[in-house]
Amino acid sequence: MSEALSKKITQMVREVVPEVTEWRHTIHKNPELAFHETDTSALIEKSLLESGIDKIRRVGSSNTGICAELYGTAGGEGRCIGIRADIDALPIQEQSGVNYASLRDGVFHGCGHDSHTAILMGTARLLSRFREQFSGCVKFFFQHAEEELGGGREFIEAGVMENPHVDEVMALHALPDILVGEIGVRDDFMTAGVDLLEITIEGKQAHGGYPHFGVDTILAASTIVTTLQSLGSRELAPTDCALVTFGRIEGGISNSYIGGPVVLEGCIRYLRKPTQELFHRRVREIAESVGQGLRARVSVKITPEAIPTCVDRACVERIRRAARGAESVKNIVELPSPAMGGEDYACFLEKAPGSLFRLGVRTPGGQHCPTHSINFYVDDDALTVGMEVMTAAALDALGV
Ligand SMILES: [Zn+2]
Ligand SMILES: [Zn+2]
Repeated sequence: MSEALSKKITQMVREVVPEVTEWRHTIHKNPELAFHETDTSALIEKSLLESGIDKIRRVGSSNTGICAELYGTAGGEGRCIGIRADIDALPIQEQSGVNYASLRDGVFHGCGHDSHTAILMGTARLLSRFREQFSGCVKFFFQHAEEELGGGREFIEAGVMENPHVDEVMALHALPDILVGEIGVRDDFMTAGVDLLEITIEGKQAHGGYPHFGVDTILAASTIVTTLQSLGSRELAPTDCALVTFGRIEGGISNSYIGGPVVLEGCIRYLRKPTQELFHRRVREIAESVGQGLRARVSVKITPEAIPTCVDRACVERIRRAARGAESVKNIVELPSPAMGGEDYACFLEKAPGSLFRLGVRTPGGQHCPTHSINFYVDDDALTVGMEVMTAAALDALGV
């Protein structure tokens, strides 16, 4: 990309950033939970119409996702790229103290999707002004319901990756671990695969003073929990990454009575397919054999929820290139490890190669506020960085 074009992008980002900041604050003040993003999608649609975007259609069971298409007018065959932003909020009471705080009780953009949405609205406006310079198509995916991991799948089922076929996808996600002006990249896994785990243990009831008449389910459950921790440390290569976590235990009868059913709820997180297979097999084997050893009946239910996000090296290189030319980017951080959370952008990456980069959102000298915490905070200056990198990367991908 020429220096002149980079300068032009910087200049145009400066022009749109006041309006983009306003959009972000409006969305932040009016957060909406997964599958209920009606005001948010109405605002997005309005801005896309004002930006002269060609085709806009609703997506998903709640009709709150938006897929928009912008066609270049340079003539000739071109590529088709897709840029995705997630638009939903979380069931959390905001305590960030910003003057544009949530007006809706118990709902909060605690993951930064308000900024992702505003950045993509701004990027659509910028790319529409560049349309004479490219051929091909840009699809904008304003995806609903990321926090419940259902929206991504609905987008794919709605056929957004075809007609025209999407050659490459891009996305960003806020990261409070790095500063505003920084972006974070990796060449392989960005987020983990997540499978939900439910283990039910049944025994035989007895008085606690006479345990030999019963089968103790609490003992079996706690032995299963601790034994499964050996998977990550003894059966997985130390260079790989996977874990079993339990977040909820329910069951038992009373202080002096044993043998009531116990349910363990948790999840398996992994990166590689063979590791997922190993964990599925061994979680079952260990839980069932521990149960057998302690005379309890054990049943294991595993429900896949999210697949890992694995980016494409060449597409990530494009992000690095765009960031190096962006005035607002002060530093490109090579992330040492993937995040072990789930992200349903992985659905898009199943259909086309692509990139996902982390956008630094912490103010220098400011507090570290993790995503999904009550005081999560995104510095508005990150909007400039996000738009500058995304617009440059999109034009690069379109061959401008
Ligand atoms: Zn989140
Ligand atoms: Zn998120």
